Amino acid sequence: MFVAMRASASEVEILGVKSRILAEGLTPYDHRGSGGTVIAVVGDVAARRGALMDMLAGLAGVERVTPISRPFKLTSREFHPEDTVVHVLDTAIGDGSLAIMAGPCSVESRAQLLETADSVAASGATVLRGGAFKPRTSPYSFQGLGVEALRYLAEARDRTGLPVITEAMEPAQVDIVAEYADILQIGARNMQNYSLLNAAGRVARPVMLKRGFGATLEELLMAAEYIVAAGNPNVLLCERGIRTFEASTRNTMDLSAVPVLHQLTHLPVVVDPSHATGKRRLVPPLAMGGVAVGADGVMVEVHPDPDSALSDPEQQLDLVEFEQLAAALRPIHDQVRAYPGARP
Ligand code: PEP
Ligand code: MN
Repeated sequence: MFVAMRASASEVEILGVKSRILAEGLTPYDHRGSGGTVIAVVGDVAARRGALMDMLAGLAGVERVTPISRPFKLTSREFHPEDTVVHVLDTAIGDGSLAIMAGPCSVESRAQLLETADSVAASGATVLRGGAFKPRTSPYSFQGLGVEALRYLAEARDRTGLPVITEAMEPAQVDIVAEYADILQIGARNMQNYSLLNAAGRVARPVMLKRGFGATLEELLMAAEYIVAAGNPNVLLCERGIRTFEASTRNTMDLSAVPVLHQLTHLPVVVDPSHATGKRRLVPPLAMGGVAVGADGVMVEVHPDPDSALSDPEQQLDLVEFEQLAAALRPIHDQVRAYPGARP
């Protein structure tokens, strides 16, 4: 449930409500928005909901108490009506600008990464991606350069000024990834890896959580809730395609996920048309589609010579294709932002 405090509520009244919630064995999380303070009550309230609501409604400074039936709370719009803006180095995601994350599927060598980084930076990318620890479907496929790749990513960040994002696949990798990278990625296969979500909740780095290919949006938000409840409010959500009966693409990109998520949550939403389609020619139209439905960012795989890539060769754009796509996305984003009905 949520306790909405009066706009005039004092600090003492807010603290009074929080300590009553703690005394009940529950956890209060407060959000201080433009419309006043809202306190989310998290814990097992089901059996005593009515009594608890009456008790809290009677406390000084409380305007109203509303039950919330959703299984996700801190990530919900009801709790936090304003959009979350994630600041990282000199860029922001979710502030109305378009984030463009680009770079190779895997970091393959220092030269490959730096060449890609220089080029995508010049083409207008705002974040550099590159896999260091790779979740590969086959154990015999290239597994990534690991810590060596993290060092190249940090060098590329220092050279271009772009924040870097890379995946941590297990809790034991979280600290080392956070040491080198600016944004942690949790991959689709790990969306419900709860020990990894908790570990990512405890680091001072934004986290991009990718939707599992068999996960509903509610399940995605419950997974994000673990990270936020563990103490990290800077979470980005990524739609990267779900598995359907359609076999002509690697996955089916769920475009409606973007406006639905914008209704349900305050967290920024990024689309990944590379993993969604698995096909180079389909990446530009789906990237444009994602921006047209209001995505806060796009992640695109880019490689200097896609055909020779050690992972995902069929879906990576070359440097020129990315330059053209990035130039096409900006005006679409500007058009969408200018239309008041674009955000639900
Ligand atoms: C990736 O972005 O490197 C990746 C492996 O994507 P996903 O987890 O969406 O498959
Ligand atoms: Mn890939």
